[in-house]
Amino acid sequence: MFDRKGLPKAVTVYEVGPRDGLQNETQVLSTLVKVGLIKRLIGAGLPAVEVASFVRPDLIPALEDAEELLAELAPLLPKHRLSALVPNQRGLDRALKTGIREVAVFASATESFARANLNSTVAGSLDIFTPVIKQARDADLKVRGYISMCFGDPWEGKVATKQIVDVAERLFADGITELSLGDTIGVATPGDVIDLLDALDARGIARSLLAVHFHDTYGQALSNTLTALQEGITTVDSSIGGLGGCPFAKSATGNLATEDLVWQLHGLGISTGIDFTALLDTSRWLRDTTGLAIRSKTAVALMDNKRMVEE
Ligand code: MG
Repeated sequence: MFDRKGLPKAVTVYEVGPRDGLQNETQVLSTLVKVGLIKRLIGAGLPAVEVASFVRPDLIPALEDAEELLAELAPLLPKHRLSALVPNQRGLDRALKTGIREVAVFASATESFARANLNSTVAGSLDIFTPVIKQARDADLKVRGYISMCFGDPWEGKVATKQIVDVAERLFADGITELSLGDTIGVATPGDVIDLLDALDARGIARSLLAVHFHDTYGQALSNTLTALQEGITTVDSSIGGLGGCPFAKSATGNLATEDLVWQLHGLGISTGIDFTALLDTSRWLRDTTGLAIRSKTAVALMDNKRMVEE
């Protein structure tokens, strides 16, 4: 008999579609459609949504409307956990003006990715983040840290856990309030997840401070998620419709899809606060409004077949 011992009773689904997802789609959505998407996600009960990135607008045109978007979302900020990525001091300055209550910084554990994505070194990028994190915390904002390429890097191959743990320790020392471990190219298998969580635990970084961010490029995202849950993780990142693809592999499959995650969690009796039917309505709305491909297997199975929707 299946033994559910050790699984959490509740999990926080951290929705990254409007930021991580759209950042990696070629189609650019209007501010109006983004606002519609975010409001629907909140309406479906998503407890945390990453909505924007304060990067230089010319670097990521898909996210260049961060200010306009946050102005539209301003009434929601006091009641809902909405966050935005800030790559540097300039990004934080812009974010602070919008009234957002949570920001995120995006660190790399490998030199190759730091050079390719942050145009810096690992140490150099961390030095940029230290005053940004401090200023955000002084302004009473929560700060989420991301570490990308936690399990493998397209240039360097397998990544040593020590590299991840060193960066994690530094980010927590600087003041982050949560750390999301990213399998950016989707190569991890469950044993890798256990090894990394154990290595972090050995340095005193508790599971309760961690989130997991899996990509389904190699079909491992839900297996890795279940393993992380059994290991005590209670925050899982996902993207509506699996938006985002994989920027580093010629694969249409990238971010773990929110619909697939919620289907698994609810199937296990784990509460999320999410109305699955409303989530599926959002997937359908997104497809019909934008033409974007919905890559969630659960959504594809159920979107146009209401008789099979449970709950
Ligand atoms: Mg991602």
